Amino acid sequence: MLFLGTAAAESFPNPFCCCETCERARQSQDKRNIRHRSSFQLDAENLIDCNADTMYAVSQFGGSLEKLKNIFITHMHEDHFDYWNMAFPNMSITHCAPLRIFASPEAAAGLRETCSLLRKAPFSQMQEQFLQMEQVYEICPLPFYQTAQIDDMLVTPMKGRHSGFFNGESSANYVLERPSGTLLYASDTGRFYEDTFAWLRQKRLDILIVEGSFGLRKEPPECGHMTLQSLSETLEQLFEQNTLDASSRIYVTHIAHSGRLLHEEYESLLQQRFGPNIFVAYDGLVI
Ligand SMILES: [Zn+2]
Ligand SMILES: [Zn+2]
Ligand SMILES: [Zn+2]
Repeated sequence: MLFLGTAAAESFPNPFCCCETCERARQSQDKRNIRHRSSFQLDAENLIDCNADTMYAVSQFGGSLEKLKNIFITHMHEDHFDYWNMAFPNMSITHCAPLRIFASPEAAAGLRETCSLLRKAPFSQMQEQFLQMEQVYEICPLPFYQTAQIDDMLVTPMKGRHSGFFNGESSANYVLERPSGTLLYASDTGRFYEDTFAWLRQKRLDILIVEGSFGLRKEPPECGHMTLQSLSETLEQLFEQNTLDASSRIYVTHIAHSGRLLHEEYESLLQQRFGPNIFVAYDGLVI
């Protein structure tokens, strides 16, 4: 499993920003402080999110998407799904389309409607490209808290406290279960809803990947992203209900410059509180 990117939407540092944190990241000798937009390759066949940096990152870290079958989209924000990427599987000589794109029902409906609107735009070259892109994938809606068997995995989306572009769209945090272990990928999420805690009460996570976008920022409890404070409270509750235990590993991702923490600073704050099995992820990290 490979972290292809671990930054929030504007990457880290934000190229348009010269705040103290962005400048410290640029000057740092620690290359883990340079982050691209978040996506995660579970294995050769399964990818979570597919943004403008994903294609670059796959090559950068020596992989390929040739065998890709499934893309799990957390939500329709530009740092999680870049539709233009669908132009490229068709240009492969060896890849066997179509891909399956899994998304929440609202995200799936919004994507379908956007594509149909774009197809009607009076630009024949673009229409042609959109028609070709639509040959590459099928959209598969996955309702929240319902478990689906997808190849060798059980997949259950949890509802995140984070809105996507489409009306009524909430992010999907995916619980992925295989005989070898259980993983939850929660980016973007905000504080977990009670329904999510309740669903997870019956489960033990081997690996939790969770966003920690806003670090030291102070935000209200309903914020659509985690701060260090809300992340810590969420983890405490997960430990309390035994969803996490001493042998679970936790990786914090989707880091924003506005959280004012570089890699080592963030990881050391988390490890002081939760011990040695919590890490801040970085681009290229293999689990
Ligand atoms: Zn995001
Ligand atoms: Zn900045
Ligand atoms: Zn988002």
